[in-house]
Amino acid sequence: MDKYDLHCHSTASDGSLSPSQLVERAHGQKVTKLALTDHDTINGLEEAQQAAMKAGLSLIPGIELSANWEHKCFHIIGLGIDPTCSSIVQGIATQQQIRAERAKKIADKLAKKQIHGAYEAVCKAAGKGMITRLHFANFLFEQKHVNTLQQAFDKYLGKGKAAYVTTRWAEMDEAVRWIIESGGIAVLAHPLRYKLTTSWMKRALKAFKQAGGQGIEVVTGRSSKDDIQRTHHFAQLYDLCASQGSDFHSPDNEWVELGRLAPLPKNSKPVWDLFN
Ligand code: AMP
Ligand code: MN
Ligand code: MN
Ligand code: MN
Repeated sequence: MDKYDLHCHSTASDGSLSPSQLVERAHGQKVTKLALTDHDTINGLEEAQQAAMKAGLSLIPGIELSANWEHKCFHIIGLGIDPTCSSIVQGIATQQQIRAERAKKIADKLAKKQIHGAYEAVCKAAGKGMITRLHFANFLFEQKHVNTLQQAFDKYLGKGKAAYVTTRWAEMDEAVRWIIESGGIAVLAHPLRYKLTTSWMKRALKAFKQAGGQGIEVVTGRSSKDDIQRTHHFAQLYDLCASQGSDFHSPDNEWVELGRLAPLPKNSKPVWDLFN
């Protein structure tokens, strides 16, 4: 039987394993279908594809796009995209520029708090990969400005905090369109992470569905039973397929492992039924 993990990160964004190390680890965890979904980039896909062929698992080319709807930020996973399609290629070029500019602004805000050298440090840590807030969190942790990564978000990087930068990503319907035009399936990532009230969640899901979204992540690496039931309920309400993905970033996080996922609720429609 296939074992799916449809959400994870490599050094092409904020993961700590290279695409091939990630694929090898997934193989070791008995994952048979893996989607690499780096933040706003497809740069890890080629290496991952080659490693997947060697290891004998099947790689689903993916991405995790940052997107806005009603001035809120959402993460949209694209599964089964064609990374050579001009729609996704052009779309993410803008996102990458936004990311680079945002990184400078975050560093400027940290400097105002007497925390210097952040920009140089995150550039070095990210290498050719996308810079994300996780890079800043790692920097703040390593430099002992905070005791945990969570604290870095609570104190500096989270919404409304000292180094938070309001960012205009692509609109949600635009991001979904890039995915669809590139032959992929759009899945709303970790729906409970946005801390929306039920009525906002319903509005967001309606907009996502109207934009052409077809799936919702029902099971993530850190979902409780209750989380799964709540998300499953939303999936059914809006007739969305259910996806599962660990959102693995690093072996250092002992709570999350590739392929370590609770099963989808019995009467869900798995998103992989849409794969050809
Ligand atoms: P960005 O897309 O640049 O805003 O960065 C978001 C990334 O930061 C997420 O994909 C996670 O990897 C990480 N992140 C966000 N919130 C937290 C948190 N509370 N604790 C640890 N990592 C987080
Ligand atoms: Mn991340
Ligand atoms: Mn995410
Ligand atoms: Mn992710």
